[in-house]
Amino acid sequence: MGINGHTKTLGVIGRPIAHTLSPFIHNLLAEMLGHNLVYVPFLVEDDLGSAIKGANALNIAGLNITIPYKTEVLKYVSEVDDFAKKIGAVNTLVPTEKGFKAYNTDIPGLYRAMLSDGVDLKGESVIILGAGGAARSVAMLCADKGAKEVYIFNRTLSRAVEIADEVNGLYGTKVVVPMELHDYGKLSGKNYLCIQATSVGMHPNVDCAVMEQGDFYEMIHTGYDIVYNPYETKFMSLVKEHGGQAYNGLKMLLYQGIIAYELWNHCTVSDDIADYVLSKMKEVLNL
Ligand code: NAP
Repeated sequence: MGINGHTKTLGVIGRPIAHTLSPFIHNLLAEMLGHNLVYVPFLVEDDLGSAIKGANALNIAGLNITIPYKTEVLKYVSEVDDFAKKIGAVNTLVPTEKGFKAYNTDIPGLYRAMLSDGVDLKGESVIILGAGGAARSVAMLCADKGAKEVYIFNRTLSRAVEIADEVNGLYGTKVVVPMELHDYGKLSGKNYLCIQATSVGMHPNVDCAVMEQGDFYEMIHTGYDIVYNPYETKFMSLVKEHGGQAYNGLKMLLYQGIIAYELWNHCTVSDDIADYVLSKMKEVLNL
């Protein structure tokens, strides 16, 4: 569709921004759905407040927010979605009469990716590897969706303790338990869903996983790695070698985009279109 007087402008704000895959995802969705919009990268060096005010004045029809602004941007929006408030970080702004309303679609994106792979969290025993920003959001999602128990394993125990305290406090529960990496032998049973939420194994350091012990993987029926480059991480190979199912984070990336696109354009993206965009993302990333 050609650009004309009716074309809506959307985009992603971050620093750096040149590596972002979001313009590819959103412009392809617009092309397939016949929407008259263009989605562009916006490099914001530091004055985020002015950028958001300007975007509002320019009637920008939707924004994604990426590193390093996912928390700072909360100061400049008029409203925050309830789940995003709990997570404390947002990646999507939707224009309203008063300003922008902020959402987090990263974590619903992971959930939708899991559901599309037939994995649910309700009643699950979950192991989370890592205790950074991504792991914190994953722990929140597990509590929100009714996981039975959630063990957070991290190199730095204090960060796992912080997340467990925070999530248990917010949900009035004790399901989240912090653990030392080497203490996995203390877990009972052999039926865990494991979500790999560290950066270990990511390109170019592809030959490592945060857990490498075979008996750890004996306990895992399904492994979800939020890393997507390489397409099959060492963590995923280890899960598969021990008889489990394994998935990477590419669908999470796709669905965080799709959920944002649906919020901005009041539409539903079908599974067929999602599958097509996923195949094109693989091509463009050489995966
Ligand atoms: P972060 O806040 O920097 O946390 C990194 C985590 O990895 C920490 O728990 C850290 O442990 C652990 N870690 C790092 N190096 C380690 C090592 N050598 N051995 C053991 N543990 C190690 O990062 P984040 O924002 O949570 O992001 C984590 C990963 O998720 C990144 O690779 C990011 O690209 C990916 N991600 C993917 C998507 C997607 O759409 N697929 C979305 C968001 C994030 P310590 O606490 O001990 O330092």
